[in-house]
Amino acid sequence: MSTDEARQSALEHYRQGLQVTPEQLAQIRDAFVREVQAGLRRDGHSSLLMLPTMVDILPDGHETGEFYAINFGGTNLRVLFTKLAKDKKQVELVEECTAEIPLEYRRCHVDQLMDYVAGQLIAWADHHGGGLHRHERPVIGFCFSFPVEQTAIDAGKLIHWTKGFENEGAIGQNAAQLLADAFKRQGLSVHIAAMVNDTVATLAGIRYGDGIDANVAVIMGTGTNACYLEQLSHIEKWLPGFRPRTSDMVVNTELPGFTAPELPLLDVDEELDAESNHPGQQTFEKLTAGLYMGEITRRILLRLVAEDGLFGGQAPDAMKVAYAFTTMHVSLIYHDESAELDEIGRILQEVLQLPADQTRTEDRKQVQEVCGLVAQRSARLMATAVTGLLRQLGRDGSSRPAQRNVVAVDGGVFAHFPAYTALLHEGIRDILGEEAAGLCSLKAVEGGASFGAACVAAAANNYMKAVGN
Ligand code: BGC
Ligand code: MG
Repeated sequence: MSTDEARQSALEHYRQGLQVTPEQLAQIRDAFVREVQAGLRRDGHSSLLMLPTMVDILPDGHETGEFYAINFGGTNLRVLFTKLAKDKKQVELVEECTAEIPLEYRRCHVDQLMDYVAGQLIAWADHHGGGLHRHERPVIGFCFSFPVEQTAIDAGKLIHWTKGFENEGAIGQNAAQLLADAFKRQGLSVHIAAMVNDTVATLAGIRYGDGIDANVAVIMGTGTNACYLEQLSHIEKWLPGFRPRTSDMVVNTELPGFTAPELPLLDVDEELDAESNHPGQQTFEKLTAGLYMGEITRRILLRLVAEDGLFGGQAPDAMKVAYAFTTMHVSLIYHDESAELDEIGRILQEVLQLPADQTRTEDRKQVQEVCGLVAQRSARLMATAVTGLLRQLGRDGSSRPAQRNVVAVDGGVFAHFPAYTALLHEGIRDILGEEAAGLCSLKAVEGGASFGAACVAAAANNYMKAVGN
């Protein structure tokens, strides 16, 4: 075979494999809905954990008080302080602080990790607003973005770590208690009023801030996930000690675990999975999330080097390092609109150590195409989950006239990959059709999951005060 014929074949393989047709999307959506329903049943087997969150009251914008939030998600740790006043115009959102969690904290004992988390809030509060000590018992909303089996709104056991965390001593433990203990070790008594997943915090944030009756929230960042507001009568699982106050509860789907024969897995996906920390787990997350899009791309590019003669058929050593290529690079490459694709040349030089004057425009174009295909597949698969949840809610236009839907979104990919939202909406359109998709908008939450966590704490705290507890 000539190089040109070979070039066609490997790229074409990924072109076809990564493009998910509208028919495939509908099938995946249907499979997802089946998993949702199985996961709600008492003994239904499902790849989705479908975790009841114990959040049955969402903020409505009338909450008041002073709250801190800790958002411990994946790459970053965020802390913030907010003062919620009756008149929403007076809401004070003291600027949050973001720190990248040092790598060593992903491996240490969980007590050390929690000491670090508590320490970040303590140190930050010392410089902003006079320190935690000025409150008798500061109220904290804890956004803990991992699968948790909630036993109450402020308590729950970690089921397993995701996103590369492996801290010993955490699984099966009440993560809110682990955090409260860390504050105690530093001489502080705090009230963790709510411990919530980032999807739940995002849903709460949009409810508080925009007064919109959003029912679905999705995260696309280091990890991926979705939650929605389900009728209690649909949740057949046992809710230990739960006394209903309303007719609904937010359910955290734990979308990362979703798997079904309908998912279009490619050779590179299987390799990535086999070489990951937890093979066979988090299938959907590995196809979509920020942690993986760069790595999928790197693996495909290696194939193009070997089979199609990309970069002259020579893979530089830097390109052989797992996770060297990140989703941020995918985004920058995707958005390079210059004639010579200069930005792509710069990134290939910086990350893969390919001298910019040695990468051909043709090669840069292929790299850009692969980045586009990987991002597009992620967004379109995410669309199956969004539309699947709307179907479950009877709001996708299939059983009665479509209603207006606002889907709350948050996460680094939405924030730093400008085209991602549009790609997701295109997927939604391909599944729901023009009209129903036109009624569905994706809305980023101001203040993100961090502010949302403070809002859930506020709603929980205000409710307890109202009932005199
Ligand atoms: C976790 C979810 C979380 C998501 C986004 C996933 O890895 O399992 O609980 O919501 O990441 O942060
Ligand atoms: Mg295809």
